[in-house]
Amino acid sequence: MASRDGVAVVGSISADLTVYASALPRPGETVIGDNFSMVLGGKGANQALAAVRAGAPTFMVGAVGDDQFGELTLATLNADGVDTSAVRVLPGSTGIAHIRVDTASGENDIVIVPEANHRLEPDAVEQSLRALRDRISVVLVQLESPLAVVHRVAEVCRSQGMRLILDPAPAQPLPDAIWPGVFAVKPNETEAAIMTGQPVTDDSSAAAAARWFLDRGVEVAVITLGARGAIAVSGDAAYELPAFSVRAVDTTAAGDAFTGALGAALAGGAALPGALRRALAASALAVTVRGASPSLPTAAAVDAFLAEQG
Ligand code: ADP
Repeated sequence: MASRDGVAVVGSISADLTVYASALPRPGETVIGDNFSMVLGGKGANQALAAVRAGAPTFMVGAVGDDQFGELTLATLNADGVDTSAVRVLPGSTGIAHIRVDTASGENDIVIVPEANHRLEPDAVEQSLRALRDRISVVLVQLESPLAVVHRVAEVCRSQGMRLILDPAPAQPLPDAIWPGVFAVKPNETEAAIMTGQPVTDDSSAAAAARWFLDRGVEVAVITLGARGAIAVSGDAAYELPAFSVRAVDTTAAGDAFTGALGAALAGGAALPGALRRALAASALAVTVRGASPSLPTAAAVDAFLAEQG
C-alpha cells in the first residue's frame, strides 16, 4: 500500500476580487477607488495551500467554472504544488468573493457568490475520496460547500477510516447525524457558540462547548481563542494551548493556517499534542504577514520558529 501521508481538502475555491477606496459608496453612489487585487480565495483553497506548505501531499476536491477565474484559481493551486486533478470544471462561473475595503477606516464588506462551489455533487466527492484512499489519511472540510456534500464526506470518512477535520465556517447548526463521522472539529469562539447554541466567552465555557461536540461523537474538539490561543479536549485529556507571542499585523486566514497545519501534521504521523503545537505555530506566523494566502507559512518556517521558541 502506498503511504497515506496525504491530505484531501473538500471545499470552496473562489476568486477574491478586492477593491480599495478611501470611502465606500452609499447606495446609488459611484466612487473612484485607489486599488484592485484579484487573488485565489475560498476557505477550501486556503486550507489546501496551508496543508501543502505544511508539507503534506495535498489533493483539492471541489468545483470551478469553465471561465477565466477557473483557470486562474487552479493555476495558483498548482503553482504551490496542490494536486487539482479531483477539481471538477463545470459549465458556468467560478465562485467569487467581492470584497470592498474602506482604506480610511479599515472596515470591509464582502459579497460571496458561490457559483460552482454550490454545484459540487456528493457523488462526485465520494468518488474522488475513494480513489484517494491509499494516499490520504486526513480529510479537511468547511461549511462553504453544500450541506449534502459535508454529510457525504463524513459518511465516507467513517467507512474508509479517514480522519475528518471539520472547520465549521461559516457556522451554522448541523444535524446530529454528521458528528460520528467527524474526527476533529475546530471552531473559533463565535462559531462554537453558534454550533452549540451556548455562549462561549471564556476558557470554561469553551471547554463546555468542546464537551458538547465530544458528547455527539467527535473525538477531538479544538476551540481557537484568537490571541489567547486554543483549548483542545479529547477523551479525558484537556490541553490549554496559549498562543505564541508574535507581532500581529493581520489575522486573516489564521484559522485556515491552523487547520491546514493540524491536518498535515496528523497525516504525517504526528501525535495530537505535537500536531496542535505545529498548528499554533503556523497560525501565529500567519498573523505576522498581511493577506490570506501570502501569510500561510511553510514547514521550514514553522520548524525555524519552533526552534527559536525552544
Ligand atoms: P479564526 O481566524 O478562525 O477566527 P482565531 O482568531 O481563533 O480563529 O485564531 C486562530 C489561531 O490563530 C489561534 O488559535 C492562535 O493560535 C492564532 N492567533 C490568532 N491571533 C493571534 C495573535 N494575535 N497572536 C498569536 N497567535 C494568534
